[in-house]
Formats: sequence, structure tokens, C-alpha cells
Amino acid sequence: MNVLVTGGAGYVGSVVVEILVREQFNVVVVDSLVEGHRAAVSGDIPFIKADIADRDVMKKTFAEHNIDAVIHMAGETLVSKSMTDPQDYFINNVSKGIELLEAMRESGVKRIIFSSTAALFGNPEFTPITEDHPTNPINAYGRSKLMFEQMLEWYHKAHSLNYVCLRYFNAAGATAEHGEHHPVETHLIPIVLQTALGQREHVDIFGTDYDTGDGTCIRDYIHVEDLAMAHVEALRRMDDMGPRKLNLGNGEGYSVKEVIEAAREITGRPIPVREADRRPGDPAVLVASSERTHRLLGLKPGYPEIRQIVEAAWKWHSRNPEGYKD
Ligand code: UDP
Repeated sequence: MNVLVTGGAGYVGSVVVEILVREQFNVVVVDSLVEGHRAAVSGDIPFIKADIADRDVMKKTFAEHNIDAVIHMAGETLVSKSMTDPQDYFINNVSKGIELLEAMRESGVKRIIFSSTAALFGNPEFTPITEDHPTNPINAYGRSKLMFEQMLEWYHKAHSLNYVCLRYFNAAGATAEHGEHHPVETHLIPIVLQTALGQREHVDIFGTDYDTGDGTCIRDYIHVEDLAMAHVEALRRMDDMGPRKLNLGNGEGYSVKEVIEAAREITGRPIPVREADRRPGDPAVLVASSERTHRLLGLKPGYPEIRQIVEAAWKWHSRNPEGYKD
């Protein structure tokens, strides 16, 4: 199967591409390199530096590589930025997303796997969150992803586009080759590990007065390789399965303090912390029920423990303390 991956030079994208190649898919990467790194994509994989809204380039690429399916991972991903610059989320995740869907429609590409998010659930009414949980995003990031999911429903009804939305909880960890390196780091685990490496003085804990066991936010961290395998299985099964929206987590929640404690044990470094205000847009608890995903995709997490996830990330960060070179 010939698969085009948008955002394939990003953190999750680079691992998905690595695993797709390992699993014998033919892969083409499109990435604007605004956030991604050229060095995160192996030199022997066809790479096109382009914006997904460039309909001509996308159509040409679909035709040249005889593309059967798109994995759409390009886009804005930060909750905090979405609270101050919501327009970027509606432009990049929604408006440019329509351009991509139109290029696909005009080219007859009928399959899409979409990188969606747990942020579209908002503050959970119950935990673990199942796929049937109401969607009520409390940040523009979640709203923009929900809007794209809703567009997919209409493209399915009107144009028989088949889709699988994978609602990521917290992607974390690394493979031997690919890890997390954002131009401006905001994610907990890399920040904790940069502190362990002495690149930061301390970790700010955003909120210690949440209604959770230790007062800090609880998240469901899924190893990025497990997350990548879900894309592989979704591609393999989507023709039989039909359109789906699936949660992609580990089913286990860990608090910010628990993550930091795991990192102290693994790195053997002290990792100083500072208590800070809550970060706007953060729900207290986000934990997935992944029962449906595991059943439909025939998967079980290979790295269920937070220690395994932090350990994988630590290996990559300590080997690549400055991240990717370009
Ligand atoms: N967090 C924190 N300090 C940081 C970065 C993150 O306390 O420097 C918290 C954040 O408030 C959230 C959790 O860690 O509760 C995970 O945040 P991250 O940005 O990694 O992922 P998100 O949940 O926003 O997708």
C-alpha cells in the first residue's frame, strides 16, 4: 500500500514513518518543516517540503506515487498556544485541512487516518473516557480537531471517503532512531528530561490544587511506538472496519508528580521542581478507555508502564541532547 504522511517530519510523524517502513508500506512524506526536522526522515524516503494547502503539489504527489491512503498528522498541537492564538488552529487544522481533503477528493484518494486528540472531550464527565463520551472541548486545539472530524463525516456521507480518527492521549517515549524535539518545548516528559540533563534549572508543575490524588494533572501517556502500530493496523483494517473514531491511550493515568518521580528514578538525577499556576485549558484528568481500539485493531500496548516510556525517552534525549541537527 502506498501511503502519504503529512507531518511526517514531526515527533509522532517520524516514528509512524519509521514503523510503516518496517511494516513494508511504501511511504511518501509531506512536511512544511515549520515544526518538523528534515533529519527526522530517513534520506531514502521520498520527501516533499510543502504545505498541505498547496493543492497542486498534493495532487501531483498523489498521482506520481499512486497514493492509496493519507495519514494526516500535520497541524498545530499545543493546548496553551491554542488559548492565545486560536486563529492558527482554525487556519492550519481546519482551513488547510479542507484543502487537503479537496486535493484527495479531486485525486480519488479514498482513505484517511487522522491524528485527532483527547482534547476534544474537554473536562471528562466520566473516566476512563470511552469513544461515546460527549465532546465538549475547552481549548481551541480540541475544537479545531473536532471540526475536522465532523468534516470527515460529511466527506464520508457525500464522497464515500473512509476514515479512522485516532484520538491521541499523551504521546511519549522514543524509538532508538526518533524522539521528541520541538523548536519550543512545552511537553512534560522532554522538559523533565532536559532538566535532568542540566539544560533547565527546574520543572514548573502547572497546578497543584486539582481534584486528583496529589493535586497535579493526570494524563494517559502512550508510547509513541504503540501509537504508531495503531496507525499500521488501522490502515490494514480500515476497508473492512469502515469509518471509526478510536481512542488511543494506554488506559493508565499518571500524575505530573508521578512522571517526575519516575524520571528521577530512571535518570538518577534530582530534577528540581517549582510549583506554578495552572495552565489555561488543561483538564484535570484525561485517561482513555482503549478497549475498543485494542479489540478492533488487535493491539495490546508493548510499553504499558510509565517507567518504560520515560526510559525510552531518556535514552533518546541522553544520546541526542540537542535534538535533531536540522
Ligand atoms: N505540565 C507541567 N509542566 C510542564 C509541562 C506540562 O506541569 O512544564 C503538565 C501539563 O499541565 C499537563 C501535563 O503536564 O497536565 C502534560 O502536559 P503536556 O504539555 O506534556 O501534554 P498535554 O496534556 O498538554 O497534551
